[in-house]
Amino acid sequence: RTAAHSIEIESYVETHLVQQQPGLIHARENSLKHGIPTIAVSTVQGKFLSLLTSLSGAQNVLEIGTLGGYSSIWFAQTTKARGGKLTSIEIDSSRREVALQNLQVAGINVPTEAEILLGAALDVLPKLAEEISAGTRPKFDFVFIDADWENQWRYFDLAVGLSKGKGSVIYVDNVVKEILESGIVGPEKRNETVTPLVEKVGQDGRVEAVVMQTIGAKQHDGFLMAVVK
Ligand code: SAM
Repeated sequence: RTAAHSIEIESYVETHLVQQQPGLIHARENSLKHGIPTIAVSTVQGKFLSLLTSLSGAQNVLEIGTLGGYSSIWFAQTTKARGGKLTSIEIDSSRREVALQNLQVAGINVPTEAEILLGAALDVLPKLAEEISAGTRPKFDFVFIDADWENQWRYFDLAVGLSKGKGSVIYVDNVVKEILESGIVGPEKRNETVTPLVEKVGQDGRVEAVVMQTIGAKQHDGFLMAVVK
C-alpha cells in the first residue's frame, strides 16, 4: 500500500517542505531540452542531500557524476553559504556544458563556488589526490558517488583517501537498486565474480557505514552512507 502511494507521498512532501529555487527548476527544464536523461536525484532527495551536507558541516563536496548539474546545484548552494566549493566530475563533455549553463543560471559562480572537471573519474581522482598532496586543493568533507556501478568500490576507496578524515562522509547513491539488479539478494543467481560494494565497505576498517532503503518517486532504492573513523 505504501509503495503504491510512494509517488504521491513524495509529491506531497515536495509541495510542503521543499522550496525549490528557480535555478533548480531551470536545471531540470534545460537538461530535458538538451536531451539529457531524467536520472538526476529527485527534488526531495536533493533537499535531503543538502540537509545532510549542512548537518555534516561540509565546506568542500566532491561529486562523481554531474549529469546536468541538478544535484550539483543543491550541493553548491550549501557549500557556497559556508564559503566552500563543490567539485564535480563528468565524463561527457556535452552534459558538462549543460551543467555549467545550469549552475550559472542558479547563481553559482564557476570556478570559485563550483567546478566541473571533465574526464573519467578513475583518471580525475588521482589528479585530485596529487593536488591535495601539493597543497593546491583542500581535502573533501563529503563525497557523493553517483556514477557507473562497476567502479563504485574503487571510487569509494579513493574517496576515503581524498577525505579530510574523521567525520567525513562518503555517500553512494542507488546501492539498493544495484543490490536488487545484481541478484545479491532475491531469487536470481548471485554473481560470485565481483565482491559487492557493501561487503567490501563492511570489511573496511577506515569507516563505519550503513545502507538505508528508501521508497519514493524512484520506487524502491536506497543509499550507502559511510563516516570516516
Ligand atoms: N548526480 C546527478 C544528479 O543527480 O543530478 C546524476 C548523475 S547520473 C546518475 C551519472 C553521470 O555520471 C552521468 O552523467 C554519466 O555521464 C556520468 N559518468 C558515467 N561514468 C562516469 C565516469 N567513469 N566518470 C565520470 N562520470 C561518469
